[in-house]
Amino acid sequence: MARIFCIANQKGGVGKTTTAVNLAAGIAAHGRRVLLVDLDPQGNATMGSGIDKRSLAASVYQVLLGLADVKQARVASEHGGYHVLGANRDLAGAEVELVDIDEREMRLKNALAAVENEYDFILIDCPPSLSLLTLNGLCAAHGVIIPMQCEYFAMEGLADLVNTIKRVAANLNPELRIIGLLRVMFDPRMTLQQQVSEQLETRFGDKVFTTIIPRNVRLAEAPSYGLPGVAYDRSSKGAQAYVAFGAEMIQRIATL
Ligand code: ATP
Ligand code: MG
Repeated sequence: MARIFCIANQKGGVGKTTTAVNLAAGIAAHGRRVLLVDLDPQGNATMGSGIDKRSLAASVYQVLLGLADVKQARVASEHGGYHVLGANRDLAGAEVELVDIDEREMRLKNALAAVENEYDFILIDCPPSLSLLTLNGLCAAHGVIIPMQCEYFAMEGLADLVNTIKRVAANLNPELRIIGLLRVMFDPRMTLQQQVSEQLETRFGDKVFTTIIPRNVRLAEAPSYGLPGVAYDRSSKGAQAYVAFGAEMIQRIATL
C-alpha cells in the first residue's frame, strides 16, 4: 500500500515543486512505483514532468469534484518514470466549488484510495498557501516533507505550518506527522546558511533529513525542457542529491 506524502510550505518559491518532481523521479530511479499529484493551479509539477497542462483530458480538479477518477485522469511522465495526476488553472476554481460539497477536505483522500495499491509512494505537491487544497493534501497524507531554504526568515513561517499540521492531526487526520525538514538550494559558501542549517539540526534533531539539496542551476534549467532535473542531467550535483534523498525516503518509510 502506498505511503502518501505532502510536500508543503506556505512560503512561495522555496523549492516545493522542484522537490516533488525530483523526489518522484529519484524514488522511481530506485525501482519504486510513484504517483505525483499536482495540487497547485500553477501546474508547475505537471509541466516539469513533461506533461502539457493545457492538454490534460482530466486533471486533479475533476477528481476533486468527482467528475473523473484517478485511473482516468493520471498520465505517465515518460522521462520521469512515474505517473502524474496533473493540474492546471481549472483547479483555481475548486476552492469555491468545493465549499458546498460534503467532506470537502477529504476529497483527495477518498479519490486516492482507488489506486493506493498500485503505488509504493504517492507524493503531493501543495500550493504556497494553507488553503482548502493544501488541507486536502494534508488530510490524504501520512506525512509532510517541508522543503526550506536556510535563510534568516526561514523559521518564521515554520511555526504557522507546524501549527496547521498539528491542528489537522488533532481534528482530521490522526496519522499525519512531520516526516522531516529538507534543506534545499543550499550554498555551503554562505556562512549564514551554514549557521541556519546547524540551528535546524540543534532544534529539530532527526526531523532534519540527512540529505541536503544544493543550489544547482541544472535543477532550475530542467523544467524548461519538460524534464525532471534527475532525468535532464543525472550526473549533476542537484540530480544526485535528489536520488540520494529518494534512497533516504525509502529507508525512512521502512522505520515509520
Ligand atoms: P511555489 O510556491 O510558487 O509553488 P515552489 O516552492 O514550488 O514555488 P519551486 O518552483 O520548486 O518552488 O522553485 C522556485 C525556483 O527556484 C524555481 O525557479 C526553481 O527552478 C528554483 N530552484 C528550486 N530548487 C533549486 C535548486 N536546488 N537549485 C537551483 N534552483 C532551484
Ligand atoms: Mg510549486
